[in-house]
Amino acid sequence: ESPDAIAISRRSDGRILQANERWLDLLGYERDELARGLIAPLATHVDDAGRKVLSALEREGSRSGDDVEVTVSDRAGTERHTLVRISAIALGDEQCVMTIVRDITTQRQAELQAHEHRQQLIHLSRVASLGDFSGALAHELNQPLTAILANAQAALRNLSRDPPDLTELRSTLTDIADADKRAGALIHHLRLLMKRGDEQFAAVDLNEVIRDVLEFLHGEVVRRDVDVQVSLAQGLPAVNGDRVQLEQLVLNLVSNAAEAVEQQASGRRTLELRTAACPASKVQLLVTDSGPGIPAESMERVFEPFFTTKQRGLGLGLPISLKIARAHGGNIVAERGASGGATFRVVLPASGASSRLATK
Ligand code: ADP
Repeated sequence: ESPDAIAISRRSDGRILQANERWLDLLGYERDELARGLIAPLATHVDDAGRKVLSALEREGSRSGDDVEVTVSDRAGTERHTLVRISAIALGDEQCVMTIVRDITTQRQAELQAHEHRQQLIHLSRVASLGDFSGALAHELNQPLTAILANAQAALRNLSRDPPDLTELRSTLTDIADADKRAGALIHHLRLLMKRGDEQFAAVDLNEVIRDVLEFLHGEVVRRDVDVQVSLAQGLPAVNGDRVQLEQLVLNLVSNAAEAVEQQASGRRTLELRTAACPASKVQLLVTDSGPGIPAESMERVFEPFFTTKQRGLGLGLPISLKIARAHGGNIVAERGASGGATFRVVLPASGASSRLATK
């Protein structure tokens, strides 16, 4: 007895002439119903979508010989996932159709469970790293909160003057609104990070991530009077990654660079972001600043959790960035920049599927 359900039906009226035991079992018929012509065509055991697929298959059956996936319900309404193959045959001089149905329900369920399990694991590992990220969030939130407080105090001082400087007041309030928006966006990022979703790893355009982050930091960059130069490689291969995490990575590096150049006189605060495709299907991002650079002895240590030289620093930005890079199969190294500042070099593997070679 074949493990597949097989039936032969007459092409003219669709009547089932022969069916094996599996066929009767699968759809819930008794053997004697076959002789009495009481077995309904397969099309009555599938939904509308399935019916379309089946009739298309019936038209091309003999040519394509491909299996199609169809959900079949038996007489009691129990659904099975199946693969169906249809071919034209002759029975005597009668034009017939042979239908073979393979039950793949168990297999499908195992696949679904494996998928579900994987999603749970991804979710768990995200929640597990939330400890780190909530620290990072506190770190990132500190800046806008400090800015809001300082600006609110300035506004109050201004108001107690006689007369208050309304132009200044307007700009102070604008700064408060900007800082508040930034804080809101950070919280939004954390929410995304916690959200359980299917589509976390996808082809991501690193150039787009950089544009988004710069847009996000625009107010900050203007406020600090930083000159940002961006040189994004055309036709950069995509990275297979989690967009939110990659944004977090770029955000950390750019915030650090912006903080570093703040020590320089206005007009000497430059920050450069450069992407490039590298040999061996890799993509590179260089973040270079004109700040004081990193002393040789702390080149490695900057990636250690809680290593910070800032008064209000938490020392989590770089370790988190490194963790993200490694989770993507890549790496980050700190280097001395050409003009004495710091350079952070991020290397990530390009996603094979969507890699396009630069055509220049
Ligand atoms: P935090 O910014 O809270 O200190 P990070 O992990 O982001 O935490 O950075 C750790 C340390 O690395 C900083 O305190 C600083 O000493 C050093 N560092 C990071 N980026 C730069 C940079 N662009 N230039 C100079 N030093 C840097």
